[in-house]
Amino acid sequence: MVTLVGDARRLVPRTDAILADPRLVAAQGRLGRSLVREAVRQAQHRARQGEIGPDEVADAAVAALPPLAASLTRVLNATGVLLHTNLGRAPLSAAAADALTAAAGCTDLEFDLATGSRGRRGAAMLAALAAAVPQAEAVHVVNNNAAALVLAATALAAGSEIVLSRGEMIEIGDRFRLPELLASTGARIREVGSTNRTTVADYAAAIGPQTGFILKVHPSNYRVEGFTAAASVADLAKLGVPVVGDIGSGLLAPHPAVPDEPDAASWLRAGADLVTASGDKLLGGPQAGLILGRADLVSALARHPLARALRVDKLTVAALEATLTGPPTPVARALASDPAALAERAAALAGRLAAAGIDAGPVASQAAVGGGGAPGVPLPSAAVSVPESLAPALRTGPGVRAGRHPAVIGRLTEGRLLLDLYAIGPAEDEALAEAVLAAAVLAAPVLAVDGDRPASGNGDRPCR
Ligand SMILES: *Cc1c(COP(=O)(O)O)cnc(C)c1O
Repeated sequence: MVTLVGDARRLVPRTDAILADPRLVAAQGRLGRSLVREAVRQAQHRARQGEIGPDEVADAAVAALPPLAASLTRVLNATGVLLHTNLGRAPLSAAAADALTAAAGCTDLEFDLATGSRGRRGAAMLAALAAAVPQAEAVHVVNNNAAALVLAATALAAGSEIVLSRGEMIEIGDRFRLPELLASTGARIREVGSTNRTTVADYAAAIGPQTGFILKVHPSNYRVEGFTAAASVADLAKLGVPVVGDIGSGLLAPHPAVPDEPDAASWLRAGADLVTASGDKLLGGPQAGLILGRADLVSALARHPLARALRVDKLTVAALEATLTGPPTPVARALASDPAALAERAAALAGRLAAAGIDAGPVASQAAVGGGGAPGVPLPSAAVSVPESLAPALRTGPGVRAGRHPAVIGRLTEGRLLLDLYAIGPAEDEALAEAVLAAAVLAAPVLAVDGDRPASGNGDRPCR
């Protein structure tokens, strides 16, 4: 529309008048006053710029409202990395999400409804974890695996030594290094062996009265290959000092899709005194740190004063119990996925997008577990290849901002955006298709014209 900027400024309705719009009154109840005022402010600004007319300000404010009072945006993980730390790792099952919502209000977290008196915090969740790993005499749950390790180091090795192989001194990500994390508790790290080879004799030579425990860490995000040696948990368990095993991924029992990934049951059976793991990696649950093993050690950790600072909240308790007792998680379902079924889904999706004029095709792909485990293990998958120029709109298009579509994060390869289906459930294919169709409207040149591929124009970096 054509409006002189000076006129528009005079005509822009006042904030109070716009806020009285019934839709915005309702939105204030849902989102709070400040988010609604911000949407109004943006719409007024657009009117002052002459982008919209003064009579369109209320509509524009309604359109600019965020979907929720929290700004975390739903994302479809089309990266082909099953557990993507930047994308919140494991997606919860519907059962876990429902349990979490139900626990959001007041709940019997530490209360026994039968007797009307105090109960053990998260008792049913702990019972579910114990039942899932009968090899553990006792279990405890803290905020994450890093917290589990800090608690073990503080309770069992403060002022003494943690014996750790030089081949297992890992960085878990974002510059956090396990040895530094452990040393921050006051424990000393006694390094043994070399990067590629550490033998039982190396450990045996290092242990003595000053030893708190031996720590065996699964190198969950890298592989050492070639001339290598590592001591097994069974060998270390014979040395007469406690063995704490950090399996990382949270597999409770062996899984055929990731045969080299350690699991809690096997390491406990092999003689580990304690095993620690993450809740939001291959277990497929909420962020949590699982501690399983000998009753006296678990109790020493759970009763240590630091445990109070690392305890999980009711939302985690609820989601973790439902993860353990409920139907297979999205992560478990992805690990069990049939490559032929993935290829069929990719073909169907690509066909639908192509029918709408988008330059899309199905391609074979290789997915990965991700930072949470199974480094270097390729998982056969399938993807839909679309123009790279769609990437920005898939991340931040207006439909995403308004909460109509999830953001879609794919993988950039050779000038194409691959939307890998490995980490996406079949029930989400519809949402994926709609998100791509909506993004394509914004990036018109992606429409295939006489088979020409549009130039890839943006400087997006691949998401890994
Ligand atoms: C992921 C991981 C950690 C850190 O776990 P968080 O739950 O993120 O704290 C520690 N050790 C290993 C081996 C891991 O794979």
